[in-house]
Amino acid sequence: MKGRTICSAALLALALCGAGASPAAAETTESAATSPVSWSMAEGVDVAAINSDLVAGRPTVDIGIYIPSNFDEGFEKVTLPSMMEAFQAAKEIYAPTGVQLNLLFVKTGEIDERFLAIQSNEIPRIPDTEYVNSYVASKRHPSEMTNMAKAAFESIVEPDVANSRTVYLVALQDVIFPFLEVAEGRNWTVKMVRTGGLSFPTYSYHDTLPERLRGIISITNLSTPSRKRRTIAHEIGHKVMNVSHEYKTTNPAHEIYAEGGLMLYGAGEDIPSGEEGRWHLERLLMSPFVYRLDEQGRKQWNPDYKEGGHYYDPLYGEKVVHFPGVSEMDPDW
Ligand SMILES: [Zn+2]
Repeated sequence: MKGRTICSAALLALALCGAGASPAAAETTESAATSPVSWSMAEGVDVAAINSDLVAGRPTVDIGIYIPSNFDEGFEKVTLPSMMEAFQAAKEIYAPTGVQLNLLFVKTGEIDERFLAIQSNEIPRIPDTEYVNSYVASKRHPSEMTNMAKAAFESIVEPDVANSRTVYLVALQDVIFPFLEVAEGRNWTVKMVRTGGLSFPTYSYHDTLPERLRGIISITNLSTPSRKRRTIAHEIGHKVMNVSHEYKTTNPAHEIYAEGGLMLYGAGEDIPSGEEGRWHLERLLMSPFVYRLDEQGRKQWNPDYKEGGHYYDPLYGEKVVHFPGVSEMDPDW
């Protein structure tokens, strides 16, 4: 099970999620009662120095970082130093692709203590079966953020004209992800996994994410060297390449504990290109989160998703992979 909690986006790919299973009325009240967080710039972070290696005109992703100042005593799995070290590692991992990460800000502030721990998405209603692959299944039944998570991120992310084009790394204590797993025979069971990072990717949530919160990534554990090295880059990969745990001949949803690719569990950092690379590099460069500065210094954004950003969104044209569905279930049930 080692690695299972690094990130649960494999489970995102596996999960067929439905609309809210919990009482909406209480959560609506919770949402209405939440006021925006009052943020201030983190002391000791020199954003200009961190960005000093950026080159105008190259493909760029804007990233804002929010770190609550009121974590519970004893929570040390994400700190300002570990977040900055992990961000620097992500810059290095993306450097070979030519994509640069532009740090907009690092802010701290006191968030509503109810949001230190949240449930990310509603319990899925429909499990994966073998007839279609996980991306097709997610298009039919997208995951749905809980009202709790929406309220948390609405209070955390400051309104901005470029909200839907910006990646936000939000440090929290716990982001709990529910998913379905084959139990025995033809039965599934609900499990809840404690995530280390969660990217809320559009291949899972294409038409259910509020536009303004499209760039949210939660970061909840950077406490080991491997997490510090890969977690942020890997989660940005889910968001910006818009792929699950897959690499070359490895389809999502199985054999994810392998070396090589950034999008597998393991120590890999490779972002492959071409059809044999499942178009990872091409999808990265086509992402609506990517822009290039023109000669006047204006951001020229890539075209936006045409259908909300599911895996087969027409934006990607032929830069998609078709593969069969799988089921963990005995085929002779
Ligand atoms: Zn992942």
